[in-house]
Amino acid sequence: MSWSVCVVGSLALDSIETSTGRAEEVLGGSGAYFAVAASFLAPVRMVAVAGSDFPPEERDFLASCGIDLEGLVELEGPTFRWTGRYHEDMNVRDTLDLQLNVFAEFSPELPPAYRNSELVFLANIQPGLQASVLSQLESCRYTGADTMDHWIESDRESLESLLAGVHMLSINDSEARMLAGENNIVTAAERIRSMGPSTLIIKRGEYGALLFSEDGTFAVPAFPLEEVVDPTGAGDCFAGGVFGSLAASESLDPTALRRAMLYGSVLASFAVEDFGLGRLRTLTREDIDERYSAFLDLTRF
Ligand code: AMP
Repeated sequence: MSWSVCVVGSLALDSIETSTGRAEEVLGGSGAYFAVAASFLAPVRMVAVAGSDFPPEERDFLASCGIDLEGLVELEGPTFRWTGRYHEDMNVRDTLDLQLNVFAEFSPELPPAYRNSELVFLANIQPGLQASVLSQLESCRYTGADTMDHWIESDRESLESLLAGVHMLSINDSEARMLAGENNIVTAAERIRSMGPSTLIIKRGEYGALLFSEDGTFAVPAFPLEEVVDPTGAGDCFAGGVFGSLAASESLDPTALRRAMLYGSVLASFAVEDFGLGRLRTLTREDIDERYSAFLDLTRF
């Protein structure tokens, strides 16, 4: 048995350029990355919107991961599209184009069977939409959310009201500084936790991630890789690994949270090895277990 994880997020066709090459209109979106990563560890239910041009083979791929797609609605019109280009320093990227398309009419609705999911993750979408999901939950043990610089700048009020209602926030370091208005990451973490989420994960790209909670501070490295092909979605896969692991542990205690951070880093490390969800399409549970052990060896002596 395992707890179930419900994710609400974007489903996209991404076009990505990095120093290693490019990919056109590949499956992406915060919800897709999270769902696929979490599906290796626990049962996942997904709420998202696809356009009428969404490739049926990608829907089949999501279903083949065991993801419950009852909450995936299809609307007439083109699927959400995002185009990004990374700098030589892959921690920096520019959004070249963003077409909301069917996303503009999206109002997430949880199917009745999803309303008692033990864990719920609100992947990066407009904070008002994320909040509308919270009000639909009937019994839920733990909620988490992600966000991005765009919403911190343009929709701060909705974001702050969302933060007051979630247990966990997962965010990258530059966004944490922006949200807190504070440059020091420890002080920024304290300030964000005072806004609502008792647990805060700060993702630091190739430098790993930090966990701030009532239990103190915990750090995980990123797996040292010879080549990063495409960092898109690494943060969502990190969160998917965290929630998948918590669900599999059926626990939210400090040890479960720390273990979950390691699984987050494992899933993120695979995500960056190929464009889009490429590497996760061939990933096996054995690969995950092997890298989990390699992670433990990274700091054991
Ligand atoms: P990350 O690299 O973790 O920021 O996630 C990248 C994913 O976020 C891509 O697959 C995009 O399709 C998706 N994305 C980009 N902008 C937005 C947005 N404004 N709302 C929702 N999803 C987005």
